Amino acid sequence: MPPCMTHLQCVACNATYEAGTQNTCPICGPHEGILDVIFDTTRAAVTLSRDTLNAREQSVWRYAELLPCEAPNLPNNGLRTIGWTPIIEAPALAANLGIGRVRLKDDGRSASGSFKDRASVVGVAMAAASGATSIACASTGNAATSMAHCAAVAGIQANIFVARGAPEGKLAQMLAYGARVFEVDGTYDDAYKLSRQSCAEFGWYDRNCAVNPYLVEGKKTAGLEIAEQCADNPPDWVAVSVGDGCTIAGIAKGLRQMRECGVIDWSARVLGVQAEGVAPIMKALETNRLDIPKVGTTYADSINVPVPRNWRKAVNGVRASNGTIIAVSDDEIRNAVATTGRLAGIFAEPAAAAAVAGIAKARQDGVLDPNANVVAMITGNGLKDIRGALSAIGKPTRVKADFKHIVEIVNAD
Ligand SMILES: [Zn+2]
Repeated sequence: MPPCMTHLQCVACNATYEAGTQNTCPICGPHEGILDVIFDTTRAAVTLSRDTLNAREQSVWRYAELLPCEAPNLPNNGLRTIGWTPIIEAPALAANLGIGRVRLKDDGRSASGSFKDRASVVGVAMAAASGATSIACASTGNAATSMAHCAAVAGIQANIFVARGAPEGKLAQMLAYGARVFEVDGTYDDAYKLSRQSCAEFGWYDRNCAVNPYLVEGKKTAGLEIAEQCADNPPDWVAVSVGDGCTIAGIAKGLRQMRECGVIDWSARVLGVQAEGVAPIMKALETNRLDIPKVGTTYADSINVPVPRNWRKAVNGVRASNGTIIAVSDDEIRNAVATTGRLAGIFAEPAAAAAVAGIAKARQDGVLDPNANVVAMITGNGLKDIRGALSAIGKPTRVKADFKHIVEIVNAD
C-alpha cells in the first residue's frame, strides 16, 4: 500500500475497511455503500510541497503521496503522460459571461480527449499491477474510450459495454484502440449490469467507478492540479458538469487535500452543472436522497446519467466546499459550445461546454457576482461528438467555384 493511503470509508454509514479488502460496503450493499479512499494528509505533507512538486514529472503521478497505486513501469510510457493539462486564460469569454475572470482547464487535450483518462490511468495501472489481462466497464462513452486507450498502452484486453446511441466518434476511438465493444440494446443501466456480471463471471478487472473506489482518486488529480496551477491566483469557484457525480467529488477532494497538505492556503467553492432534463444530483443536494427522473433527457451524452451511483460523494463534496449545483437547458449548452470555441479557442464537447453554460446561468441567478473568478473544467474534446457540435454551431457556407461569389458574400457580411 502506498504510504499515505490509510483505509476505506463508506459514504453512507461511515464504516471503515482496510484498503484492498472491499469494493463496496457490505453493510449498505453495492448500490448505497460507495467507499471513499482516506489518506493521511499530515503524512503526505511531509514530502508534498510546492518545492518538491516543482521537480516532479508533469503527469498525474507527480502526486504519488495522494494516489492509491504507484506509477506504472511499462515499456510504453503512455500512462506517464496523462494529466497536467494547461489552464487557458479566457478574457473574451469572461466578458461575454459578465464576470471578472474565467480560466479553462482543458482536458480535451488529454491522450484520448477527455478528463476520464485520469480515472482510467489509475484503473489500468492497478489492473496491470494485479496481473489482470482483461479490464471492463460500462460507459456513456468517454470512460470507455479512455479505458480502451490506457489498456492498449498496457497491453491489456479492454471490454466495453455501451448503450445504443453512443456518439460515433467515441465508438470509433474504442474500436481503434482495439477494445471489444458490446453495444447493448438497452439503457446505460442495462449496460452497467452486464459489465458487472461479466467481471464476476470472467474475472475481468472492474473499472466501473460505482464499485471501484480508487478511480475517483485519479479524477481527484484535476483538483490537485487546479490548486497547484492557480496557487498564487486562486479562483473563487471551480465549475464542472455533473453526470455520475464522481468527477465533481474528485475535484472537490483534490482541492481540499492540497489545502490540508499546506500546498495552498485558500479554498474554492465547487459549482456543479447538470442538464435540466437529467438533474437528480441537483435535487439530491436539497433532499438528501436520490429520486430517479422518470422522463427527461439531454443531448450532452456524457452527463446523461439518470441513475448516478456516486451522488452521495458528489453531494458531500459540494457541501464541504460551500458550493452548489445548478441546471442548464440543452439550448444553453449548445450556445456554450459555440461561445467557448469562438471566444476561447477551445472546442468542447456538449457535456464540457455545460460547465461554461453553468457560469452564465449562475451569473443570471446571482450565484456569481460580476467580479467572480472562475476556473471551468473542460472535460472532453468537441471532436468526440460531431453531430452534437454541428447542431450547436451551424453549417459552412456553400459557394460556387467562382471568386465573384466569395466577394458578394464577404461584402454582404
Ligand atoms: Zn456502509
